[in-house]
Amino acid sequence: MIKLHDLQFVPFIAEDEITTAIDKLAVRFNQDLEDKNPLFIGVLNGAFMFASEVIKRFKFDCEVSFVKMSSYQGTQTTNQVNELIGLNEEVWGRTIVVLEDIVDTGNTIEVLSKLLTDKGCKDIKIATLFFKEEAYTKKINIDYFGFKIPNKFIVGYGLDYNGLGRNLTEVYQLKSSNMTNLVLFGPPGAGKGTQAEVLKQKYDLVHISTGDVFRYNIKNATELGTLAKSYIDKGQLVPDEVTINMLNAEVDKNPDAKGFIFDGFPRTEAQADSLAKLLDSKGADVSAMVALEVDDEVLVQRLLERGKTSGRPDDADENVIRNRIKVYYDETAILKKYYQKEDKYFGVDGVGGINEITDRLSTVIDKL
Ligand code: AMP
Repeated sequence: MIKLHDLQFVPFIAEDEITTAIDKLAVRFNQDLEDKNPLFIGVLNGAFMFASEVIKRFKFDCEVSFVKMSSYQGTQTTNQVNELIGLNEEVWGRTIVVLEDIVDTGNTIEVLSKLLTDKGCKDIKIATLFFKEEAYTKKINIDYFGFKIPNKFIVGYGLDYNGLGRNLTEVYQLKSSNMTNLVLFGPPGAGKGTQAEVLKQKYDLVHISTGDVFRYNIKNATELGTLAKSYIDKGQLVPDEVTINMLNAEVDKNPDAKGFIFDGFPRTEAQADSLAKLLDSKGADVSAMVALEVDDEVLVQRLLERGKTSGRPDDADENVIRNRIKVYYDETAILKKYYQKEDKYFGVDGVGGINEITDRLSTVIDKL
């Protein structure tokens, strides 16, 4: 996630996907325009990056010009299209390729096309990297597009939000929800439950501990409890399908939540993927994985100590405890990489006083 001015944006189209789309467009330009000596007209400011990438892939004679028009103010498109500045080339009788970063209502290209037609252009082709077909209200044919995208506000790859974001090499979309969703991570005994209790008050979030939900179901001898018990007693993971369905149901019980603290979930990549999907369906995402880092031997001692009062059978047996820690490193620790790839992993020292550790976690959360 990135922040530009007051708004948050989440990744939408990756750089390699954009490159592939431009490669494909370039193949078509090279086929269609080989002996036409086209004049490429990039529409500033947004199209500078797209124009440069397309034009450097064109293998035949061509000319390049840039014009300036603007139809955007903030995130709302306006009907006002400014005048055209900067076209000094002779366009009469020529083949023109208008290069746009994005076509939405089509106001800009409609005005530009008319202007170019009035100046006697022979053939005007419209090429845009992004095409918001749903928002398009004009009749002019869009000859080339890289991506058809839904009617969302996007930034990056030349496109801006009030001046910022043009330099981003991938495309981001406006985050449609301002939920804060934390994955509280760390091995068993790291103190996730304790910290979750504090953080949920402090940030007004809903705390979901999958371990607690399983234990509740075991205590009440539900079908889910019976199913989960055999795994939990051995310190193994409950199968993904069961856990994911349960988690989805818990999230759906809280439609008005400002956000969630996920404690003990996700524990596998499949769970992480399903969480991303679930949150995406609410226009939200995982804000961060905050991980409590604690040494193994400290964990074993803490859990044995907790076992004296917690009544949890999986805390009473050192072998089960060690198996849970092993499962964490074998199966769960890969999620660190998963969230690191998204720049969302934050490790926090989990040894110290409760308040001290809360402060460390808050320093991370307050910056999100
Ligand atoms: P916890 O209270 O988080 O230590 O979880 C206790 C036990 O519940 C684990 O050892 C697993 O058997 C099971 N469990 C909790 N969360 C999950 C999960 N996300 N995926 C699979 N099993 C889980």
